[in-house]
Amino acid sequence: MAFGWIDEQADARRRAGLLRTLRPRPADSPLLDLASNDYLGLARHPEVTEGAADAARRWGGGATGSRLVTGTTELHGELERELADFCGFEAALVFSSGYAANLAAVTALAPHGSLVVSDAGNHASLIDGCRLARGATQVVAHADPEAVRKALGTGSGPAVVVSDTVFSVDGDAAPLGELADVCREFGAGLLVDDAHGLGVLGDGGRGAPYAVGLAGAPDIVATVTLSKSLGSQGGAVLGPARVIDHLVNAARTFIFDTGLAPAATGAALAALRLLRREPERAARAREVATRLHTRLTASGLEAVRPDAAVISVRAPSPEQAVRWAADCRAAGLAVGCFRPPSVPDGISRLRLTARADLTDGQLDRAVRVIGETRP
Ligand code: PMP
Repeated sequence: MAFGWIDEQADARRRAGLLRTLRPRPADSPLLDLASNDYLGLARHPEVTEGAADAARRWGGGATGSRLVTGTTELHGELERELADFCGFEAALVFSSGYAANLAAVTALAPHGSLVVSDAGNHASLIDGCRLARGATQVVAHADPEAVRKALGTGSGPAVVVSDTVFSVDGDAAPLGELADVCREFGAGLLVDDAHGLGVLGDGGRGAPYAVGLAGAPDIVATVTLSKSLGSQGGAVLGPARVIDHLVNAARTFIFDTGLAPAATGAALAALRLLRREPERAARAREVATRLHTRLTASGLEAVRPDAAVISVRAPSPEQAVRWAADCRAAGLAVGCFRPPSVPDGISRLRLTARADLTDGQLDRAVRVIGETRP
């Protein structure tokens, strides 16, 4: 029977307790949310939702075409200029998702005959970018500049090193300064995915490259998502103007994809302007992360010290991680659950996000529930 093998796979997943299903989130969820990526609590901010509504009324429900045909509005240009300026880069290009931005950046910067050096802990979208790229990929040990140096030593053509700035599984940060130094030794480019850094790291949330003085350098390209700290949807690539112009001409997920919807563009622009006006939101997200981590470890839980707003708590097994997350939910707390195949090392975790708008009382409640339900 056609697609019969799918049932076998589903059965195997079900038996292993790893079958994924979708659960609608009610508009007014009673759960305490430590699962979403709305780090700054902006997704439902009235200025952000009004930015979306205004844009939709003015420009329509969709972008109506690809960016090179009818899909570019004034709003797209404003968002690109303001995002580049905020993060300290020369230029920016907005995509329909962070995923599409990563596919674009990796494939366009890794032509035939080139070498891509990719951290073993990178996000799936960077991994898929490597798979689609014409260049050859070498995956290197996690957060290991020496391994990157060795890999770069094997190449002869153009090279690009690809890394998350903050890794989505454990919330640890990449050694960006050292990576940049190694890249410069070999004349390689450095492409970093700042999905979890924008809005959280750097002065006022200007992102990880800004925080370490790499923003705007001629050999640094960053990608961001508009769907986490900025509470919208979409993604962007930031870098030197010549790189951005190259993407307009060479990146297939830019050329052949419908432009970012006006509502998402308007929401992201409103959130960015809000973040400029209220820079303390970024520091507050970092502070909440530190407090949450301190309380988790004080109650005997094994949590990775957060470099941004993502905190990972180890679970003994995939099955226990799933049950732990379900028990938290039953007790009124939404947490993320990472387990194989989404984790590179086979270790299952609860994944918590430290939102800037969480109160101390809410943090106490979250830690109590996680402690009481632990396997
Ligand atoms: N990079 C990283 C590190 C991410 O965590 C995510 C989101 N899960 C993405 C890229 C993809 O971004 P988007 O959701 O906007 O497609």
